[in-house]
Amino acid sequence: MDHFLYRDGALYAEDVPITEIAAAVGTPFYVYSTATLLRHFRLFDEALEGLEHLVCYAMKANSNQAVLRTLAAVGAGMDVVSGGEYRRARAAGVPGDRIVFSGVGKTREEIHLALTGGIRQFNVESEPEMQVLDAVARDLGVVAPITIRVNPDVDAKTHAKIATGKSENKFGIPIARAREVYAMAAAMPGLEIIGIDVHIGSQLTDLEPYELAYQKVAELTEVLRADGHNIKRLDLGGGLGIPYERSNADPPLPSDYGALVRRRLGHLGCEIEIEPGRLIAGNAGLMISEVIYVKKGEGREFLILDSAMNDLIRPAMYDAYHDIIPVLEPAIGVEKQPFDIVGPVCESGDTFAKQRMMPPLSAGDQVAFRSAGAYGAVMSSEYNSRPLIPEVLVRGDQFAVIRARPTFDEMINRDTIPEWL
Ligand SMILES: *Cc1c(COP(=O)(O)O)cnc(C)c1O
Repeated sequence: MDHFLYRDGALYAEDVPITEIAAAVGTPFYVYSTATLLRHFRLFDEALEGLEHLVCYAMKANSNQAVLRTLAAVGAGMDVVSGGEYRRARAAGVPGDRIVFSGVGKTREEIHLALTGGIRQFNVESEPEMQVLDAVARDLGVVAPITIRVNPDVDAKTHAKIATGKSENKFGIPIARAREVYAMAAAMPGLEIIGIDVHIGSQLTDLEPYELAYQKVAELTEVLRADGHNIKRLDLGGGLGIPYERSNADPPLPSDYGALVRRRLGHLGCEIEIEPGRLIAGNAGLMISEVIYVKKGEGREFLILDSAMNDLIRPAMYDAYHDIIPVLEPAIGVEKQPFDIVGPVCESGDTFAKQRMMPPLSAGDQVAFRSAGAYGAVMSSEYNSRPLIPEVLVRGDQFAVIRARPTFDEMINRDTIPEWL
């Protein structure tokens, strides 16, 4: 559920007409709904009610400072995967003890930054990382709280580029080696083992892989405790999927997921941490774009938009589907026709949808890409020297630009010329 609905024939973000925002900021742009962000965060929070828990928003999904502040204000923790994200979280007012640090390639500098700035835990992904973390912590005279990310070797049944829990993936340590690696960690004075971490992938639309992974985590908890380790926190990762295609989707709800966590892990008495990203931000955002041309090709018609793969790369990168709807509601019963919906970038990959059934559209009409709040703006670039598009946040009847479109001069002057030119 989101807060982007037609009212009197026009699409609204909460109580603000999209056309009003478009008139103020120009297209293309991203627009996010505060109410949807909060609703999704609360669904997870409520799904774990009764268990000691923290919902750590995976901020790589959408790391705009205003989005982070919105979530931090209601008690969200943050899952960060870089020093830049750590700094963003702190800049948004998130205390260190609500930040967990994930990722396979944490540098010495990033580890130093988090240890000095405050951290809830590091999710350690390899033995070499463990050694560096131990060394940096001892240098600083502190002890780093850690979980070790185990790779449970389960098939998340999602797109290959976002599956992370199979043994061929680069993430975590093989669960079969967990006892050995935990014993190594326990011998390192700069580290304090506090739990186990697992994250098997993104856009999971079936709970079965979670069942398998969490069953393995439950067994591992008992084994590691028997080995004498203090396993008091389980970080269960993120990955719950969203319905990109409204017409044929029925993905599991956070409440179903919460029930699963309770059933598989509730008896262990551990604090539970989860790291949802996409399900919090995805359906809280639209990308709004304008039709530049309607072009007749050989046996097909193209809608050429003013947004492109550099603004929203998911279709090109993951073959992702996004619902695309007109900003002005089509009349009831109007006949739809197939369009290839593309951007202006000079690559055939710059195609948002092929043979998509759409109501008639003309140059100047605006369309909205649904489910564009996660892995949208954060993955955008200025390819083809197209300036990053603005982001707008709506709350009730208010809206604000939360990242402005750079001017062409700002974009060009980011480059510097060596003195010999
Ligand atoms: C990407 C990621 C997440 C969030 O995944 P979503 O599919 O956005 O929920 C959580 N944890 C880790 C470690 C990740 O890499």
